[in-house]
Amino acid sequence: MRTVYTVVVLVSVAVLATAETVTGPHVRVDYSGINPRQARSIAEVISAARQVYVGEFAADMPATVIAEVECGSSHPTRLYTDGRDHIFLSLSSARKLAPPPASGVFNLYGFCHELGHVMMYRLLKERDWMTSAAAEGWAHYAGSVVVDAVYAAEGQSIWFEPYDYRADGTMRLERQLAAEHPSKVDRGAGLWRDLERIIGRRGFVKLFAAWQAAVIEPAKPEQALLATVVKSFPQREAALKTWWRKAAPLFAQPASVSRTKAVRVSTDRLTGKPLELAYDDDADEGKRSIAGGGHARRFTAPGESWYVSAVSVYGARYGRPRETGTFVVALCDAEMQRITIWKKPYMTFERGPLQWVRMEVEPTRVPREFYICLDFRPTATKGVYVAYDDSTRGNSLVAKPGRPGSPFEHGDWMIRVELDQLKESDPLGGD
Ligand SMILES: [Zn+2]
Repeated sequence: MRTVYTVVVLVSVAVLATAETVTGPHVRVDYSGINPRQARSIAEVISAARQVYVGEFAADMPATVIAEVECGSSHPTRLYTDGRDHIFLSLSSARKLAPPPASGVFNLYGFCHELGHVMMYRLLKERDWMTSAAAEGWAHYAGSVVVDAVYAAEGQSIWFEPYDYRADGTMRLERQLAAEHPSKVDRGAGLWRDLERIIGRRGFVKLFAAWQAAVIEPAKPEQALLATVVKSFPQREAALKTWWRKAAPLFAQPASVSRTKAVRVSTDRLTGKPLELAYDDDADEGKRSIAGGGHARRFTAPGESWYVSAVSVYGARYGRPRETGTFVVALCDAEMQRITIWKKPYMTFERGPLQWVRMEVEPTRVPREFYICLDFRPTATKGVYVAYDDSTRGNSLVAKPGRPGSPFEHGDWMIRVELDQLKESDPLGGD
């Protein structure tokens, strides 16, 4: 199955040059290029929407949501989140903040939508099984519900140009769902709405936490996902099974697993004199962190019976001084199908200048042609830049383990591997 990724290249963390700040309950807005009243509207909407997530969804939301707003003619119009506590809005003109009928931009709904992502992603950090129809559908559903609740609490005057924004809430979602061919995201939103009718609005927190804790087999996620929902709400088993029959094809994306089985050996069975495959010239021409994609580089083993024992990456971390969580190093076959993965702590990489970072892995046999893929799941405020070298090209992908991905055009990722062999070859069987 082919998956198309929306690749957003994160080359720098947004830093506002000459920002002003407005604060409110649990919110801070740093802004440039818009007026203070507009910034205050944004702060009030975020604050009110956050309160709905806390009050109605019983969600654990950030103590302070930080919004960074940049407006200027060179800026594209876009809105996104780091999934943790930041929302970024960029606008080409302050006129884009006008109500949707005039601007065509759903800003107020957009903030409610982004906080929906934050609510989910703070709980459900490992979700490679989840399609973008499910992830975006969730934010669309939750955002629409929250728009209605913000209106009920605050009314029209929360926005600097008051208008009846109930038109941007569930009213819009219901109209989209009534269309002849609703989009995948709209259908995803409709499925989350249907699930709310079974588990209740406050059930989502429990469900997301349970999915995060569950062991989800990437090649066949559907069964474990359903079992987890049912276990969380056993009294609703029949309704949940019916719901999942509709939701699974749209929500779950199986990763392809290689027919090459992972054959592992302990380090002491290897010669300890590895061969390093280093195809780069040790000088980088640039670096990338890629939202929605990983860094995969192809290698050719010198023969059969070689085991990868270490992976080195020329890179640097960005974000906070201390970072919890892990990233994934994967061994994939020549078709990018997963053979095995290893998890490493985010703090393996340091901030600052690019440097070689060597990671030992549980020795695993490699096929003749294979990929090493790093998946950092980066955001605008957390990630690892991986350097690339343009002395070679055509051997690197932007891809996640188990997905075909797309070619990386600028060169090859600076990733090296160490391969080792079993020491034995002792005909008497000693070892
Ligand atoms: Zn979204």
